[in-house]
Amino acid sequence: MKRAIFPGSFDPITNGHYDIIKRGVSLFDEVIVAIGVNAEKKYMFTLEERKKFIEETFKDEPKVKVITYQGLTIDLCKKENADFILRGLRNPADFEFEKAIAHTNRSLSRIETVFLLTAARTSYISSSIVRDVLRNGGDITRLVPEAVMANK
Ligand code: ADP
Repeated sequence: MKRAIFPGSFDPITNGHYDIIKRGVSLFDEVIVAIGVNAEKKYMFTLEERKKFIEETFKDEPKVKVITYQGLTIDLCKKENADFILRGLRNPADFEFEKAIAHTNRSLSRIETVFLLTAARTSYISSSIVRDVLRNGGDITRLVPEAVMANK
């Protein structure tokens, strides 16, 4: 079974994440969306909210599973029996950052990172932009899946 972990903060899930997960589903038998818990980080949405947004968005997609985790992504891969890490690339800055992580993960394990180039129409979206728009009372309808709009 080809299983991929899609790790991130998802604070909140955006249409960019949605695009990567949907396309991941066509490549893998199962995509595990793994919400990382970092005690040092301040989040806008609670872990439960972030998880609920993703679960609701993919409630009709049985190949998508949502979990939370702490620690190294490669340790999670071993635990979940996943041979792949899925990541999205938006721009050269993402590439440089992701390259170092993927090399490190590969040197520590046999796990391959699979990169998907973001769709042009969502490549400008980031969770931090969504949070900024929200904080300033703007409309995020075009930036996030409906579940976020319904429950925020
Ligand atoms: P992190 O805390 O690791 O930055 P994010 O939740 O921001 O987590 O992102 C998780 C993954 O989703 C990363 O691979 C990131 O490149 C990807 N991603 C973020 N925004 C987009 C987007 N607009 N289009 C495609 N992929 C994206």
